[in-house]
Amino acid sequence: MADVTLTNVVKIYPGNVKAVDNVNLVVKDREFVVLVGPSGCGKSTTLRMVAGLEEISSGTVKIGSRIVNDVPPKDRDIAMVFQNYALYPHMTVYENMAFGLKLRKFKKTDIDKRVQDAADILGIKELLDRRPKALSGGQRQRVAVGRAIVRKPEAFLFDEPLSNLDAKLRVQMRTEISKLHTRLETTMIYVTHDQVEAMTMADRIVVMKDGIVQQVDTPLNIYDTPANLFVSGFIGTPPMNFFKTRIGKIDNALYIIEDTFKLKVPEKWKEAIAPYENKAVVFGVRPEDIGSPEAESKGGSDLHKINAKVEVIEPMGAETFLYLSTGTQSFISRVDAHRKTVVGEEISLAVLMSKTHIFDAATEKIII
Ligand code: ADP
Repeated sequence: MADVTLTNVVKIYPGNVKAVDNVNLVVKDREFVVLVGPSGCGKSTTLRMVAGLEEISSGTVKIGSRIVNDVPPKDRDIAMVFQNYALYPHMTVYENMAFGLKLRKFKKTDIDKRVQDAADILGIKELLDRRPKALSGGQRQRVAVGRAIVRKPEAFLFDEPLSNLDAKLRVQMRTEISKLHTRLETTMIYVTHDQVEAMTMADRIVVMKDGIVQQVDTPLNIYDTPANLFVSGFIGTPPMNFFKTRIGKIDNALYIIEDTFKLKVPEKWKEAIAPYENKAVVFGVRPEDIGSPEAESKGGSDLHKINAKVEVIEPMGAETFLYLSTGTQSFISRVDAHRKTVVGEEISLAVLMSKTHIFDAATEKIII
């Protein structure tokens, strides 16, 4: 069991590509941390530097109290699970799982116990004699995880392990990996581009963009108080709506002003917003905070409504997504499944102001 500590970690690939830019992160012992971000943001490179598969350009990586920058991967006491499983095709499941232990000269009886235990945990005991080609994608993924488990490493590293599975299996394996984490009580670092995986599995999420860590926090804190526009738009489906607006004063009160709507700035935000008078800001509203049953019941005094035209209606069963336009900007609302409306109708939607956000349009940082 161990903390994994990254201090000022930088990776510059040949050609001066700065893939990872000064990452500082402490993954605590037994924590499940998910690195998430769009393709190319440097998450795999970060993980591979922890694994020892990629040289560190500057900074340090520590596993426990040991700096491992110059320690070869096999001596780092970590196990990695890859997207493509990386199983040996000519070996059986048993041999695949036993291979790493054999290399490390474990006794046959020890190997057998570890393989049987792991197979038991993963529900693959009846597959031990098969070769990888006779397994489904989900079964191969379990074997890849099993091969990591038998090592009893200080930390597990997962690089997009579910990307090759179909949607249903992905959801199932997601919960299995979460359960495995609870059971093994081991530090896990998991890389994905899928924000739903990040939200559902992580103790803490690390959101990355362009090699730079944007925010590190629990899933709900990231959802409720995103650090900037990028994080706000990346975490959450459908994504947060953004309106280009400005702050203006009308009758001595501050308003968030768009061509088609004016929303009064709540009393408690006045101080923080005042410096932005006559400046451009981005108004951010999650789809569930506009027109939803909660917004309609708790929010939306006459000063907090947006009028818009319905462009597309998507019934999801439990709720309905409306795609709307103010005439100048488009947005999405999650409304009650039974709210009656038709395409082309002009409707008025209540905004739950206490859940909305305002971003500095220039720096893209959150103000409220
Ligand atoms: P992610 O895992 O977030 O998709 P990566 O860590 O794979 O991102 O890549 C980060 C950046 O580094 C990208 O711009 C990618 O093109 C670049 N990169 C990755 N591997 C190499 C390499 N071996 N040589 C040069 N550039 C690389």
